[in-house]
Amino acid sequence: YQAKVAGKNCARYYNRVMNQAVERHVYLEGELRGAWDRGELSLAYQPIYRVADNVLLGAEALLRWTHPDLGLVAPAIFIDVAEQSGLIEVIGPLVLTAACRDAALWRQSSPEAEPLFVSVNVSPRQLRSGDLPRNVAESLSHSGLAPHRLHVELTETAMIGDEAHASRMLQQLRASGVRVWLDDFGTGFSGLSHLRRVPVDGVKIDHSFVADILHDADDLALTTAIIAMAHSLGITVVAEGVENEAQYTLLRDRGCDLAQGFWLGHPMAMDDFLDLLKSPVPVSLA
Ligand code: C2E
Ligand code: MG
Ligand code: MG
Ligand code: MG
Repeated sequence: YQAKVAGKNCARYYNRVMNQAVERHVYLEGELRGAWDRGELSLAYQPIYRVADNVLLGAEALLRWTHPDLGLVAPAIFIDVAEQSGLIEVIGPLVLTAACRDAALWRQSSPEAEPLFVSVNVSPRQLRSGDLPRNVAESLSHSGLAPHRLHVELTETAMIGDEAHASRMLQQLRASGVRVWLDDFGTGFSGLSHLRRVPVDGVKIDHSFVADILHDADDLALTTAIIAMAHSLGITVVAEGVENEAQYTLLRDRGCDLAQGFWLGHPMAMDDFLDLLKSPVPVSLA
């Protein structure tokens, strides 16, 4: 009897929590619709450096949502809402267009500096919809950005389902000169086998590995193996989430090509990024 009551309470509690989660989702979806037009969405840029000589090569575009009441909403939450509701198919192309436009402006504001790439996150749904190659082509033509200066980042989950379709989309992008990166690499189960079939230019080692390379021999071994494997396939490696000098130095020793992380530079507004271009050294080495 007691177990039954407990079970009932448990179910009731569970239902309430579930309902709250659903309600929040519905609420956020309503708020997110039109957020771009109201100017609540913006892009932050996180610098990406070449590890061998600390040279700034590009930046990742990261979407930010400042809600009038809630303040900053974490991308982990609102990107999920956008993905599940289908809103990402509206927002994704706007992000691509804005990122290409901004990257073209970096060039204009510092014409003597090396041209930088901009790396844009693309969600599984955007890849599945089939519109991606057209969205990319339009963003490039509107901005005048050279195709090789645009990178798109996809997670392994984007390949799940119709892998042949995903593979074709990526092939098409790469044929046009755009670079393709596999994001959060190492967190999926099938990372290695994907690399055999999916055409990519590089992998981004997930920050959960980088976080522990100094203390966890397994994470260091995996990171080292990913670097070696990627290089033997002729692809580039970026480390995400570099938070201190020791990690950076260790990654350099292991031959990692590029890196980003709070120690090198936080994601920043366009204006701050334009300032950074004037003296493009990592914050911690400045
Ligand atoms: P991601 O693509 O893996 O982006 C890297 C995340 O790591 C960013 O989180 C960044 O702020 C954070 N990060 C950077 N350096 C460090 C560090 O040193 N330590 C730690 N702990 N974290 C660091 P953010 O901006 O919260 O974005 C989270 C995720 O949301 C992104 O992960 C990406 O999957 C998604 N996202 C962001 N913007 C977009 C977008 O425009 N479109 C799509 N589809 N997804 C996006
Ligand atoms: Mg990314
Ligand atoms: Mg990532
Ligand atoms: Mg991530």
